[in-house]
Amino acid sequence: MTDGESSTHVVIVGGGFAGVGCAKELAGRDGVRVTLIDRNDYHQFQPLLYQVATSKLARQDVAYSLRRLFVDDSNVEVVLGEVESVDPAAKAVTTGDGRTFSGDVLVLAAGARARFFHTPGAEEHSFPLYTVDDATRLRGRIIQLFEDAHGNPALLDRGALNFVVVGAGATGTEVAGALADLVKRTMSVEYTEDIAKRARIVMVDHGPAVLGPFSEGAHDYAAGVLEQNGVELRMQTGVSEVAEDRVILSDGTEIATRCVIWGGGIAAAPLAEQCGLPVGGGGRIDVQPDLTVEGFPDVYALGDIANIPGPDGRPLPQLGSVALQAGRWAAKNIRAAAKGKERTPFHYKDKGMMAMIGRNAAVAEIGKHRHEVHGKPAFLMWVGVHAALLTGVRTRMDAFVEWAWDYFAPMKEWEALDRSETSRIDWGEDESEDGGEGTDGRAV
Ligand SMILES: Cc1cc2nc3c(=O)[nH]c(=O)nc-3n(C[C@H](O)[C@H](O)[C@H](O)COP(=O)(O)OP(=O)(O)OC[C@H]3O[C@@H](n4cnc5c(N)ncnc54)[C@H](O)[C@@H]3O)c2cc1C
Repeated sequence: MTDGESSTHVVIVGGGFAGVGCAKELAGRDGVRVTLIDRNDYHQFQPLLYQVATSKLARQDVAYSLRRLFVDDSNVEVVLGEVESVDPAAKAVTTGDGRTFSGDVLVLAAGARARFFHTPGAEEHSFPLYTVDDATRLRGRIIQLFEDAHGNPALLDRGALNFVVVGAGATGTEVAGALADLVKRTMSVEYTEDIAKRARIVMVDHGPAVLGPFSEGAHDYAAGVLEQNGVELRMQTGVSEVAEDRVILSDGTEIATRCVIWGGGIAAAPLAEQCGLPVGGGGRIDVQPDLTVEGFPDVYALGDIANIPGPDGRPLPQLGSVALQAGRWAAKNIRAAAKGKERTPFHYKDKGMMAMIGRNAAVAEIGKHRHEVHGKPAFLMWVGVHAALLTGVRTRMDAFVEWAWDYFAPMKEWEALDRSETSRIDWGEDESEDGGEGTDGRAV
């Protein structure tokens, strides 16, 4: 797989923020050639996945063709393939269909996956939210539950519209807020208000606060907005087991549910442990400040698959902005090394943390000093920062702008539902007459 010229061949695994950021920075440059491999032919914009899951955006709004992204860049080749093995010494990877790609430089940017912490049944029965496929699957389940409850209202007494969100971090909070909004604004119109009123959203976390990594003010604000929107909070409570039709909490409570949404944590993509490179917390590949792996000067690991040391030596958080900036920085180091120059340590420009809690409700902690902003101003900042993130990987902004405008101007009552991904739920025998499955002490 060499072109016979003296150009540097860079093989990148993963077309997420990190991989695309790196490839974009190398695109159009003389003396470099890029092979970008991804199992999907699209780049997915994870910060907007929960909008797909709650029918606010369509699948194609958050999945953008990788080929189209690089259509004008003749030195970037996009390859569709599942990388199954990595040989860091040879800077080579092999895909499931037996093709091997070796380069002068290897960049591992395969992201992360949901982490279930060995909770029995969680992997089989819950709905993680990490990919576009996860989001469409979850959307299908939410709609199917409303369809079933509408067709057979007796199912309501069996917890048909009980939703349990595991994890009160940014993913759990955003999805719980959006789900509450979906129930209130869309389902009450598409179905009936009586049915929508029977929906119950429970958010569970073993920590003491909603949005743990944020400040105390943000904890209280987020909890207040969620509760006002009807989300029940079960803090300092873990999940002991997830079954097809219920979840069992650490305090012994059982909640009947056919929809457990897992926002309980992430671990590095499986490639991290398969490639034989040193791994640290979260199973992520440990990298040096210049983003290369110790002992492998031409192997980089970036984004969610890597532990990238921050200024205090602790790993930077798993964020799109970290991944995108690291991708660009790695590209600069690759070019510097090709010219015989020194690589420089990655410097992350920290713009802060933010999370959306619902319509017009967000929290933001800006800059190094974590200046705290809540409500509409934070919402607008969220939109601005994510628009910048979006333009970092592509140019199409129309769906994002339309969604943001709709979320900001609460005039439009409801969005049309896309029912294409629904699938039948097996409810077993109708147990409604004897009260159905036990719940946590309340009929739902
Ligand atoms: C629901 C959710 C909401 C989020 N919200 C925000 C937010 O608001 N702001 C923010 O900054 N960050 C947010 N994040 C985090 C952010 O999305 C990630 O940090 C970022 O996507 C990491 O980028 P990455 O390039 O490392 O990995 P990814 O974006 O996950 O990309 C990895 C790529 O590798 C490919 N891949 C994986 N394994 C293989 C293989 N074996 N072979 C071939 N291809 C493979 C995948 O298909 C994927 O395209 C959110 C994450 C989630 C899940």
